[in-house]
Amino acid sequence: MSGQISFFESVGNYVDKAAAFTDIPKGLLQQIKACNLVLRIRFPIRVNGDYEVIEAYRAQHSHHRLPTKGGIRYAESVDQDEIMALAALMTYKCALVDVPFGGAKGGIKINPSKYTVEQLQNITRRYTTELVKKNFIGPGIDVPAPDYGTGPREMAWILDTYQAFRHGEIDSIGCVTGKPVTQNGIRGRAEATGRGVFYGLRECMSYEADMKKIGLTKGIAGKTMVVQGLGNVGSNAALISQNEGDVKIIGVAEREGSIHSEKGIDIEKLLAFRAETGSIVGFPGTKTLANNLAALELDCDILVPAALENQITRANAERINAKIIAEAANGPITADADPILIKKGIVILPDFYINAGGVTVSYFEWLKNLSHHRFGRLENRFQHNAFEGILTKVQEMTGKTIGDRERDFLTRGGTEEELVNSGLEDTMINAYQQIRDSFQQHSAISDMRTAAFVCSLKKIASDYISMGIFP
Ligand code: GLU
Repeated sequence: MSGQISFFESVGNYVDKAAAFTDIPKGLLQQIKACNLVLRIRFPIRVNGDYEVIEAYRAQHSHHRLPTKGGIRYAESVDQDEIMALAALMTYKCALVDVPFGGAKGGIKINPSKYTVEQLQNITRRYTTELVKKNFIGPGIDVPAPDYGTGPREMAWILDTYQAFRHGEIDSIGCVTGKPVTQNGIRGRAEATGRGVFYGLRECMSYEADMKKIGLTKGIAGKTMVVQGLGNVGSNAALISQNEGDVKIIGVAEREGSIHSEKGIDIEKLLAFRAETGSIVGFPGTKTLANNLAALELDCDILVPAALENQITRANAERINAKIIAEAANGPITADADPILIKKGIVILPDFYINAGGVTVSYFEWLKNLSHHRFGRLENRFQHNAFEGILTKVQEMTGKTIGDRERDFLTRGGTEEELVNSGLEDTMINAYQQIRDSFQQHSAISDMRTAAFVCSLKKIASDYISMGIFP
């Protein structure tokens, strides 16, 4: 909660602000904003001989496209308002990146580090059972995925529980995404959100005129970055930006503290250090800052909050010194901090765009599951032979020979991971161009969040209108 208004209300307020730049009728706008279905669950589990009542939710925000889609988080912050807000963001996210799903989100109010693996498995299976009982899960109904505090392991438990109830259902493997690769998952899903953050930033920073306005040169290479949160999203965003974008990570914030180094922090080494010592504090060559939020205030080109919501608030917004903020987490900036940052001239790449890589690759996983075969399996050999034929002909005609390595490169088909990454890259680039066009079309729009909401709203409205429900 930020000030007086709730997280869900604040998403609604952003939508209202954007709706002013569209001609969507009031009734339709109300339907788009409404959260359609919320399942509120309580169930007991046995912990160390005692019973504990677990609080959990699943919200389906919009059914204009089916299935509904969104992660399940395990966090102490979980409550109904948070899950509804996150489900709403999923609706706008899917529309923005042309993933044909409605938005949903689930959550269990626990700190997973306080439970054993066996207890976590019990909780996950019981939660899934409740979803099955209420018809809140299924490849054509509602498809969960990882989120804060969950990963492939939990998704495997969800799949196994679902299949126990739906034995013989041919598409059952599409009931959840983000599964382990060996359990009908897809290569590239684990790092997809972080990779998407990198592609989105790189695209945004490729426009010379836009960068000039915020005092930056064109291109992501050589720019400085501060990352908050070394979970799946933050660590991959930092690693890929460092390794593929030549970005210098100068600050990292985590729960235990924050660190700074002008020379740059090697993320791979930092992750190994944290795995060994349990903390980022004391990493050689870095200075420890006053507290765990202090790194957010460092002078940098790009700030990536990749932890939880409400990290940049009215209390610290004035002291943020980044040129670009990439909201890798959902809702890291509170509604009252947003205008302060915009006024300071900071470009904010909104959560429902910049972290859309996860759901994009979830969509690819779901497609793979429904088609029951691996991408490339049918066409790779055929293409390889066709390319070989062309090269042989070219050699004959020119009398020149192509080297073996070059020949291999020119004739091979893409691997699953390469195909996934290229689909993701294309998605992030296309969506950015749509947001940028909408920003440029309306001179009164002062921020990318509003421009992005305009894009999503138009697509969702046109879906409703073509269904014949609204005039
Ligand atoms: N939890 C991720 C998100 O917030 C991924 C959702 C999904 O893959 O369905 O976008």
